[in-house]
Amino acid sequence: MSHPSPAQLEAARLDALRKLDLLDTPPNEAFDRITRMAAQLFKLPIAAVSLTDTDRQWFKSRVGVAHCSIPREHAPCAQVAVTASMLVIPDLQDDPRYRDSHLAASGVRFYAGAPLSTRDGYCLGAMCVIGLEPRSFSDTERTGLADLAAMVMAQVELQHALGRVDPVSGIPNRTQFFDDLADLAIDRPAGEARLAALVNLATVEQLSNAVRAMGAAGLDEIVCEAARMLRAVLGPTRRLYHVGVTQFAFLAEPGVDLERFCDWLGAWLDLRATNMTSRFVTTASIGVVALEIGRTAPAGLLRDLYSAAHDAAEGARRVRVFSAEQNAAFMRRFRLMNEFGAALEDDGQLRLVYQPKVELATGRCVGTEALLRWRHPALGEVSPGEFFPVIEQTSLARATTRWVIERALRQLATWHRAGLAQQVAVNVSAVNLLEPDFCAWVLARLRAHDLPATALAIEITESALMSNRQLASLTLEGLAAGGVELAIDDFGTGYSSLAYLQSVPAKVVKIDQGFIRGLDRDERKRVLVATMIKLSHDLGQVVVAEGVETVGEAAFLRGAGCDQVQGYLYGRPMAPEDFERWVCAKWTLPRPRAAHLPEVACA
Ligand code: C2E
Ligand code: MG
Ligand code: MG
Repeated sequence: MSHPSPAQLEAARLDALRKLDLLDTPPNEAFDRITRMAAQLFKLPIAAVSLTDTDRQWFKSRVGVAHCSIPREHAPCAQVAVTASMLVIPDLQDDPRYRDSHLAASGVRFYAGAPLSTRDGYCLGAMCVIGLEPRSFSDTERTGLADLAAMVMAQVELQHALGRVDPVSGIPNRTQFFDDLADLAIDRPAGEARLAALVNLATVEQLSNAVRAMGAAGLDEIVCEAARMLRAVLGPTRRLYHVGVTQFAFLAEPGVDLERFCDWLGAWLDLRATNMTSRFVTTASIGVVALEIGRTAPAGLLRDLYSAAHDAAEGARRVRVFSAEQNAAFMRRFRLMNEFGAALEDDGQLRLVYQPKVELATGRCVGTEALLRWRHPALGEVSPGEFFPVIEQTSLARATTRWVIERALRQLATWHRAGLAQQVAVNVSAVNLLEPDFCAWVLARLRAHDLPATALAIEITESALMSNRQLASLTLEGLAAGGVELAIDDFGTGYSSLAYLQSVPAKVVKIDQGFIRGLDRDERKRVLVATMIKLSHDLGQVVVAEGVETVGEAAFLRGAGCDQVQGYLYGRPMAPEDFERWVCAKWTLPRPRAAHLPEVACA
């Protein structure tokens, strides 16, 4: 192997200096104390902790000098840095190298500098003392100066370690993990394949329960116990990092097979499950990522590790290898969640479409359901089936429903003025029912648009109804008392109790399309649908079948006594103008101003 050139050595030395983040930092008493002590000890007017940068000597600490740096050229400290050995110049005027230096020109005669060397052998600069008279320097004084230089370096290391070691476990933290990954890129072949693992000791909920029950100290104990166990299995050669409150990361040895690594991690989890004192209150999971040294960005690696460990915590397998597809799905959900807020404020992205509801016995259009559509500027049309479950978990659910209701009422008012006395149904989320002012707001908006409450129907899915019964029923009763029609949407898909459902003041039940699709070919579905229709009728409710696509389905529903239908067979969700045209196409002139739209000849 060839020896590194002086230029390479200097580059590595400068890199070590930069990594310590010392250059151009403000004065610090811990260093100044040592510098003052040096000046006093040797009875000299000037002392400094002088760091050798590319083209300057920068003083981290100084006594007796006004400026904070001098040019590197002809500076004795630079010689100390390059040779990494002590330099004593009894009289600068006698030394041909420094006779014409910047220092000599400013009246300096004596110089002594001890190298400031890191543990791994890089010399950052010098701890120097300077006199204005020629002077000798005894061996004892040399030792004294070297000791002071060592004290400076101890301080440097201490400050550097602070913020790099987790105070609870004493294990290197995320900053150190990132730095070590960057260093690996220098030491190891570029693109070398490695495996990284992240052990997550507990889910977010377990974490919060543990703190609540045991206090922070109890959590610290769980973390320290796991850290001890992990350190023991990793051995002294592999470094463990404490990258989050309950998360530890490490790299596998080069060349380790993915399957064997996962088996080994699984075995560790089993061991933990039998030995750890915290095994009953926490369940650990592990994420594994294959990375390429120097090519995988450390922050991205950690994110992928978290993501895999999180998926592992949710799934059946406790060790999970990062999956790009799952991650892409997660990232898309996250993006939708993040960008929906902007869509609510941007007039061009959201719109409502209207799907007709048809009375089976007469063929009349009795109303319409308003459905939200989102055209994302980059992703194109995103279906509500995809974005609603995402935004329903955020604070945007409230604003979204209000946006939908406001738009739908505005449209309805226009239609009413034009003589189309429609009823519009809107879908609301479970969280809306928990808003204390929701009912009052809806009724106020109806009045503001000069619409009767009966012109609005509110659809709530069966599962939303079940999520917070008591609070939800207050809102529901308020709406019903105000005259708003309530419908149970997606009926048959939730796990609701019939006892509860019949206590809900819902006038309408909408049988989920899952039961309707292919009903004419499926005896079991026919029995279920006929039973649901009978049950609802017995309870005095109007039954709507969703997602009717074929004449056969419609025929069965008519025979079973279903009241209304909605589906592609009659009309798809349409823009308001198209919906008007759809209705008009089935009109017989003259245009009526009656309470209902005219009969629609379908199916
Ligand atoms: P939903 O309320 O049960 O709406 C019926 C869904 O079935 C609509 O899907 C509609 O386009 C679709 N559909 C109607 N007839 C047929 C048919 O014959 N065949 C098939 N294959 N599909 C049919 P969409 O518009 O994609 O909405 C999906 C769900 O998203 C809705 O189910 C509703 O739960 C939710 N959603 C839509 N708009 C809103 C809204 O403004 N607020 C809330 N909270 N949820 C909404
Ligand atoms: Mg609906
Ligand atoms: Mg539905």
